[in-house]
Amino acid sequence: MEEKNVKPAVVVWNVDTQRDFMETSGKLYVPGSEAIIHNINMLLHDAFQKGSEGFKVKVFGSADEHTFKTPGFPDSVEFKDWPVHCVAGTPGQKHMPGTAHMTNVGVISWMKDYTPGEFSALSAKRQVILTKDSTDILNPAFEKQVWNFHRLMKTVPPGSTFIVTGIVTEICVKHEVDALADWVANNGGRVILVTDAVKEFDQDKMRVAMAEMRARKVMFANTNEALSVIKWVSKNEQAATVKNR
Ligand SMILES: [Zn+2]
Repeated sequence: MEEKNVKPAVVVWNVDTQRDFMETSGKLYVPGSEAIIHNINMLLHDAFQKGSEGFKVKVFGSADEHTFKTPGFPDSVEFKDWPVHCVAGTPGQKHMPGTAHMTNVGVISWMKDYTPGEFSALSAKRQVILTKDSTDILNPAFEKQVWNFHRLMKTVPPGSTFIVTGIVTEICVKHEVDALADWVANNGGRVILVTDAVKEFDQDKMRVAMAEMRARKVMFANTNEALSVIKWVSKNEQAATVKNR
């Protein structure tokens, strides 16, 4: 069923919180990134809770998924610029504990084709992860991942609020914030970056990226404020439901 004329949702959008980035022994460790896991965990836990109570709170996001000596695929072009990381099927490609639902995750891989039935079953899971083979989820050279992103975004009610967490602030997070800001420009709603639940590689580049986000009307909040937003939207939804009885 198409979701039309439905109430706006809150979508916690978590970017690339994978072991190769967040473990000190990871292939492409982002220094200090382990410090944000607690905040991400609080936001996700709250979102899972509200979602299971029937409110329109979703957990979407992305994961790097690269190919290296993978049968049927060329090596990922990203390995010209970065060390080999997040290779499909390796432990480092998995999410860090605390940043993924224990059992109810739909992974939508850019490496696979899905029937409409398969896609809607995956996108109905408590947490939905879009995998990608490039830093920019909407890089037009990667048709399947771009298609998967737009296909998933069709399930989001107009006017929804996106609460963005994860890594790396000035690279993949920035690209996904841009993609979400484009969606908001066409469909209404807002994008909120949770400043104590993201982590950068380079502070100067992060400042530039955040100034660009601000220019696009992206809002900044800390984890407690973001938790209040989830609470507020769920409460309002509950109030609206009661009123409509
Ligand atoms: Zn990568």
